[in-house]
Amino acid sequence: MPIASSDSMHDVLIIGAGPAGLAAALWCDELGLDTLVLEQAETVGGQLLSVYNPIENYPGVSVKSGRDFLDLLSPKLEAADFDLWTNTTIESVDLKTKRAVLQSGEQLQSISIIIATGVRRRQLGIPGETEFAGRGILESATRDRDQLAGKDVCIIGGGDAAAENALLLADVCPTVTLVHRGKSLKARREFTEQMVGHHSITIFPESVVIRILGNTEVEAVEILRKEALKPFQMAVQGVLVRIGVQPNTELFREQIVLNENNYVMVNGEQETNLANVFAIGDVANPLAPTISGATGAGATAAKVIASRLNKRK
Ligand SMILES: Cc1cc2nc3c(=O)[nH]c(=O)nc-3n(C[C@H](O)[C@H](O)[C@H](O)COP(=O)(O)OP(=O)(O)OC[C@H]3O[C@@H](n4cnc5c(N)ncnc54)[C@H](O)[C@@H]3O)c2cc1C
Repeated sequence: MPIASSDSMHDVLIIGAGPAGLAAALWCDELGLDTLVLEQAETVGGQLLSVYNPIENYPGVSVKSGRDFLDLLSPKLEAADFDLWTNTTIESVDLKTKRAVLQSGEQLQSISIIIATGVRRRQLGIPGETEFAGRGILESATRDRDQLAGKDVCIIGGGDAAAENALLLADVCPTVTLVHRGKSLKARREFTEQMVGHHSITIFPESVVIRILGNTEVEAVEILRKEALKPFQMAVQGVLVRIGVQPNTELFREQIVLNENNYVMVNGEQETNLANVFAIGDVANPLAPTISGATGAGATAAKVIASRLNKRK
């Protein structure tokens, strides 16, 4: 994948190199489109890099992790002839004129744009959260399970991800405390039923963690329960935050139609309300975010763009 010269007009500018952006780029290459992919991270893969569970729901594929999934894609990516710039920060993008300006000052021009920026985990925004990242604040219960054995853990969140992680840790940790804002858990019944009967799991509904405390590592969380006058501290050595995700759409706000949670709205061709601006993958799919959904949407957008460009020629 050679480096593109920025002064040329591209057929397609793809923003984001997770599974959606990569699948779109492969399709664009196959369809003979001049394609440039911009990725802000150092490497491609997006959320795949933080999937530590087996991936068994992508038809025909069974792999141990997101990285293994990426390894399957690698030979195709290396053989393909699209341009890819990683470590690239976009300063601004004008979706109407299809012009982008990079932090480096470089200006890019394209005929069409595909937004494939995915989602990121929501953060609590409380003291201690950033300071103790990697020092007791966990990235993945699956990955860190062995390391957590014998330790007391607090999980923050009330949905499927929080519940699934609580159950995963409950067999190796003496106590797992689930703290969530709501009156009742949003997690599916299969999980909540198992949690309620589990001897290691305690659930604090209508409660929030307001501080994470420690010296060099996490040592405690401060919890405020509804109607309690004062917060209390609970000793834990691990904290896992699972309070949902948010779409990466800050660059595009006020330019295209987003839904009430800031996900991009698209039609059946993956096109936004602006002509030749498409959105694919999790950033446009709040209901069923999956790798197969992301790659399928990439194929749709690429094919629509190719058929329009062929008609123009
Ligand atoms: C723990 C976990 C387990 C999962 N397990 C499964 C599973 O078993 N099966 C399954 O199908 N799915 C699973 N998923 C979901 C799956 O990973 C996502 O649906 C998929 O990664 C979405 O792909 P995407 O390309 O739309 O977005 P992402 O993977 O989020 O990629 C978006 C990319 O865009 C980049 N980006 C964002 N903003 C910008 C910007 N301004 N400029 C340039 N680049 C930008 C990001 O850095 C990222 O590389 C899991 C997810 C997680 C977190």
